[in-house]
Amino acid sequence: MRIGTPREVFPGEARVAMTPESALQLQKLGHACVIEAGAGEKAGFSDAAFAAAGVSIVPDAAALYAASDVLTKVRPPTQAEVHQLRQGQTLISFFWPAQNSDLMEQAREREATVIAMDMVPRISRAQKMDALSSMANIAGYRAVIEAGNHFGRFFTGQVTAAGKVPPAKVLVVGAGVAGLAAIGTATSLGAITYAFDVRPEVAEQIESMGAQFVFLEFEAAQDGAATGGYAAPSSPEFREKQLAKFRELAPEIDIVITTALIPGRPAPKLWTADMVQAMKPGSVIVDLAAERGGNCDLTVPDEKVVTDNGVTIIGYTDFPSRMAAQASTLYANNIRHFLTDLTPNKDGVIHHNMDDDVIRGATVTHQGTITYPPPPPKVQ
Ligand code: NAD
Repeated sequence: MRIGTPREVFPGEARVAMTPESALQLQKLGHACVIEAGAGEKAGFSDAAFAAAGVSIVPDAAALYAASDVLTKVRPPTQAEVHQLRQGQTLISFFWPAQNSDLMEQAREREATVIAMDMVPRISRAQKMDALSSMANIAGYRAVIEAGNHFGRFFTGQVTAAGKVPPAKVLVVGAGVAGLAAIGTATSLGAITYAFDVRPEVAEQIESMGAQFVFLEFEAAQDGAATGGYAAPSSPEFREKQLAKFRELAPEIDIVITTALIPGRPAPKLWTADMVQAMKPGSVIVDLAAERGGNCDLTVPDEKVVTDNGVTIIGYTDFPSRMAAQASTLYANNIRHFLTDLTPNKDGVIHHNMDDDVIRGATVTHQGTITYPPPPPKVQ
């Protein structure tokens, strides 16, 4: 099959879904690779590097869609992109089917297959294709780097001839994939790091990474924890306890990284305006939940704001794109692994096996039918 990658059209998006390295691997599966001219430029992959890896370069998106059996991209397609799909073609990208039912319906009408990378089941076997995790890992790391960039002090404590420097205090709210990456980065830079999550089972992971779990005295210790490793909304009583604890911490914390999300809901508001007011001038908040409304009351998505009391609040929603080379490498690998499973005989022939939990779970349209939502995976 011919695997093709167009240039991303979303404003500011710098990632690309194919790299020269992933193209070499795809060719080992018997596929041919095509890319739109300049598609990898912003991520640091030149057309010459793709050509050297055996990838054909085509001049524009129309030529790319015409030349490809399978399209791989990062962002969900625009209407115009969906309209370029033809019967029997497969698109592999982030898709967010619950929010994009119109696009899904249009892909179905065109009898194109859509594989949503955000729907890859989070089971052990599928970890190598888990693009949500590979991107969240980058976002968590970059959140700390971005905070450091706006924080006027060291992370680590130092005793120097010019004076004693106290260590920075970092609080990470939400210890999923992004939160744990942020904890790892903050502790490795030498900050005193605290972390909180409604799922008590993460306490051990938090502590194993050198951070302190913020313990909440509450009778129903599991409040807010749900099945399947995700969080559920907390009860009002739990939330009050949580906010009271954060209020107590706010005056002494220098950097807050919030990552708290609940599947299918707006981000819970956990860092309130009065907490921002209680923070010291020069403190920084990075709100990784900004795209879903933000965990901080004062977050403005895609903006950096500085409050009257000198607190910087960063609501950028494009952290993986800000590390485009790294993000593209990992994302292209996630896609390549998916294509490995779709090409079981390594003969360039795709078998769309709907009995496979991972392929079934991620497929949202197939052969003129909407196949979203999928049944739960059989294997955990
Ligand atoms: P997420 O992005 O949905 O949420 C981020 C974190 O916010 C979660 O840890 C959640 O518990 C927390 N949270 C929600 N409400 C909160 C509140 N009020 N206060 C504080 N924290 C709150 O999570 P994610 O990073 O996508 O990971 C979700 C789960 O999936 C985790 O258990 C993770 O270990 C698991 N996972 C499993 C695999 C696998 O392959 N087995 C891969 C990736 C993730």
